[in-house]
Amino acid sequence: MANHPDERQNIIGDLQAWIRQNRAQGAEWYLDEGSRPEVIPVTAEPEVAEAAAPAPAPVEPAKPATPATRAKPAGPVPANDKEAAFRARCDQFVGETMALIKRQAEADPTAPVTEPLLTAHADDAAAAMAALEAEVRPCTACDLSGTRQTTVFGTGNPRADVVFIGEAPGREEDQQGEPFVGASGQLLTKILDALGYSRDDVYICNILKCRPPNNRDPQPHEVQHCEPHLKRQLAILQPRVICCLGRVAAQTLLKTDLSLGKLRNSVHFYAGVPVMATFHPAALLRNPSWKRDTWDDVRKLQALSEALQAEEG
Ligand code: URA
Repeated sequence: MANHPDERQNIIGDLQAWIRQNRAQGAEWYLDEGSRPEVIPVTAEPEVAEAAAPAPAPVEPAKPATPATRAKPAGPVPANDKEAAFRARCDQFVGETMALIKRQAEADPTAPVTEPLLTAHADDAAAAMAALEAEVRPCTACDLSGTRQTTVFGTGNPRADVVFIGEAPGREEDQQGEPFVGASGQLLTKILDALGYSRDDVYICNILKCRPPNNRDPQPHEVQHCEPHLKRQLAILQPRVICCLGRVAAQTLLKTDLSLGKLRNSVHFYAGVPVMATFHPAALLRNPSWKRDTWDDVRKLQALSEALQAEEG
C-alpha cells in the first residue's frame, strides 16, 4: 500500500481516470456484478481500462501501475484495438444497412400506413398515443384480459427515433402498468443510460399488452389479437429503428423461427421500419457474458438511428 502522500494521490488520480474512461465509454452497466474490465497496457503509457471488453472474472479493480511505470496525467484515452475494430465493423454495418434501406424503399414505395388518430389529433403524436392507450386499456379481445391486473400499453417519447419491443409484461409490469420496470427493466434502463438515452427519449413496449400467466410465451392467437395495437403504436411513433429484445420478441414480430444468433446478424423490416434484435435483458442477468455483444448491438442500433437522422436532416 502506498504510504507517501504523493503516491496515494497518484493512485487516486489513476483510479479516477479509470472511472472516467469507463463512464465515457458507457461501460458501467456491465461492471455492476463485481466484475471489472481487464487492463490492457497501451504502449508505454498510460495504462487504460479496456472498457468494452467482456467482464472478466477477477473482482479486483485494475491496479494502478507502480510509480516507476505509472501513467503521467491522463490525456485522451488511446483507442484500443478492440474498440477500433468495433468502430470499423459498426461503420461498415451502417453503410450497408443504409444501402439496404434505400433498396427496400425503392422495392416497396407504398406510403406508410396513416393512423387515423394522428389525423384526428392534427399530427400531435402525444395526443394520438394517449387516445390509442385509452382505447387499448379496456381491451378484452383475448383471455389475458381475465388474468391481467393492468394493461401495459407502453411508455416513452411518442415520436421516438428508437423503439424497444419486448415480448410481454411480467409480474411487476402487470402490477405497475409500465413495461420493463422489474429487474430486467432496470438493466434495460442502465443500457439506455450508457447510450446517453433516458427512458423518455425512446419508446418501450411489448408485443403483448397483458401478462401471460406464469410468464409463459405468447400464444399465436394472443399475438393475433394484440399485434394491431402495436402496429397502430408504430404508425404514430414513425420510428427510425426498432430493437427487438430477445428471441421470443424477435421471432414473434418477424414471424420466423430463425435463431436469435441469426436474427442478430442482419437487419429485418417490420411495417417498413428497420428491425434489429439483441438479447433480452433477463437473459443478460442469467448470462452476463452476453452483455458485451449486447453493448455492440445497441451501439450499432444507435449509430444506424443517427445516420438515418443525419440523412433526413
Ligand atoms: N420482459 C418483457 O419482455 N417485457 C417486459 O415489459 C418486462 C419483462
